[in-house]
Amino acid sequence: MQKPLEIVVTNDDGIFAPGILALASTAMKIGNVSVIAPDKNWSASGHQKALGRPLRVDPVSFPLDIPAYATDGGPSDCVALAGLGFLDKKIDLVLSGINPTSNVSRDITYSGTVTSALESTIWNMKGIAFSLDAGGIKIKEIDFSETEPMILTVVRTFLQHELPPFTILNVNLPYKVKKPNPDYVITREGSRYYRDELIRQVDPFGKPYYWFGGDPPYGDEEEGTDCGELARGNISITPLQLDLTAEQLIPSLQQWEWK
Ligand code: MN
Repeated sequence: MQKPLEIVVTNDDGIFAPGILALASTAMKIGNVSVIAPDKNWSASGHQKALGRPLRVDPVSFPLDIPAYATDGGPSDCVALAGLGFLDKKIDLVLSGINPTSNVSRDITYSGTVTSALESTIWNMKGIAFSLDAGGIKIKEIDFSETEPMILTVVRTFLQHELPPFTILNVNLPYKVKKPNPDYVITREGSRYYRDELIRQVDPFGKPYYWFGGDPPYGDEEEGTDCGELARGNISITPLQLDLTAEQLIPSLQQWEWK
C-alpha cells in the first residue's frame, strides 16, 4: 500500500485564524495533516528566522482531531520545525494559508503566507501558498466554503508533476466566484501600487510614534498577471523561486567599471 502523503499546514495569521482551519480540513482529503502555526498574527513578517532565542512549541486542541502545535516563532520558523524533524516524520508537502487577502505582485516578499511556502523548499519539502481575495471583508464574515474544490484541484494537479528544487506555487483564489467555472490561469507577478502615508502622532508621554496609514494598495488589471486574473474572477497560479537574482542585469553589471 502506498504511504499516505504527510502534510503540514501553516499560516501567517495565527493558529486560530479561520483560514487555516479551512485549509487543514481540505488537506485531510489528500493526506495525513498536522498543523504547526504561529500563536499570533505574523502577517507581513516576510521571510524570517528565530536566531539567538529559543522557540516554544505547545500542543493545542484543534478541530477535526488534527494534531496541532502553536509556536512563538514566525511562519517560516513553523516550516523549519517541520522540515527539521519536529514531528518525527518526513513531511512531503507544506500548505500555507488560507490568507484572507490576496498576496500578489509586490506583496510577495512581505507575505508570511508566501515566504513560509518558500521555506519548505529549503528543507526538501514541496510548498504551496493559498490566499483568498476577500480584502475589505471582516475576517469573521469571510466564507471559506467555496475554496475547497479549487484547492483540491490545485493540489492534486501539482502532485502529479514535479517542480524543480526551490520553487513553489503562489495561488490566489477569487472570492465569491464571480463566474460559474473560473479558469486556472498560470500568471506572472503584476504591478501593485502602495498608497501608504506616514502618520505621525504623539503618545500620552509626549513621545512621537508612527503608523503606516493611507489608502489600500491597488493592482493593475493586465491579463496574465496575478492581480489581473484575480480581477477577472480567475484562479491565479504563479510559480515562484527562492532565487531572486535579476539574471538579465548580470551582463550589463559586468560591463560596469568597478573601481
Ligand atoms: Mn496574513
